[in-house]
Amino acid sequence: AIFLEDIHMRFGNVHALSGADLTIQPREVVALIGPSGSGKSTLLRTVNLLAPLTSGRVTIGGTTLSDVPEGGKQQIKMTEKEINKHRARVGMVFQHFNLFPHLTAIQNVVLGPTTVQQTPPAEAKERGAVLLEKFGLGDKLDVSPRHLSGGQKQRVAIARALAMKPEVMLFDEVTAALDPEMVGEVITIMRQLATEDLTMVVATHEMDFALEVADRVVFMDEGRIVETGPARDVLLHPQQARTQAFLTRLN
Ligand code: ATP
Ligand code: MG
Repeated sequence: AIFLEDIHMRFGNVHALSGADLTIQPREVVALIGPSGSGKSTLLRTVNLLAPLTSGRVTIGGTTLSDVPEGGKQQIKMTEKEINKHRARVGMVFQHFNLFPHLTAIQNVVLGPTTVQQTPPAEAKERGAVLLEKFGLGDKLDVSPRHLSGGQKQRVAIARALAMKPEVMLFDEVTAALDPEMVGEVITIMRQLATEDLTMVVATHEMDFALEVADRVVFMDEGRIVETGPARDVLLHPQQARTQAFLTRLN
């Protein structure tokens, strides 16, 4: 399980997270929702140790990765090697794909396994091809991202993260930059992944997707977790006034 305890994150005067607590169970699919600036991306980044905490504690798989006293400096009780090992267990996909434009789709997918995990190139390529085929990109293996649609690029980016065989996948607004007709093809593969042995934390503005796929929904506002519960409860019968106001504005 992943435990985030009393996480605070400040950027100068901005309190991106103001005491967030969250536990994520293995194979759980959690949707993070909330207004722009509420701290969803920052929370995701703390799971991946991409952002040094101001204070709080992150525990993953029984290991405490970060435990910082208020006002103290970041203090990760791990070596660089251990941190990298942890990051390999966590895959992350962003709004803006971040594919390497000078590499083909399959080259983007095999890069991590061959360089970070020392997977033999032939094996990495075979596994990468299986992933791309599964995502409907079997005929795009040798194509540059420059010649792919937004939805296709995002599917390559998801395949690239999965090629590292992560236990946890973090998705940050992966459909937000897509044309509406391409949102569906990405959501289809996320829906498929949600049925597999993967823990998923998904920051999303797609409430239908959250309702259908997430086990649990977490509503954030102003750096705090305001409400959390089963997806249907939070989305259809929110208890907190802030959650009600947010969801009403969307409809
Ligand atoms: P959105 O829905 O727009 O993606 P979000 O919920 O993901 O929003 P965050 O990106 O986590 O929100 O931002 C939370 C707050 O922290 C915002 O006020 C943001 O401006 C601020 N913030 C985030 N990252 C940084 C940074 N690197 N430097 C300064 N401020 C930051
Ligand atoms: Mg964000």
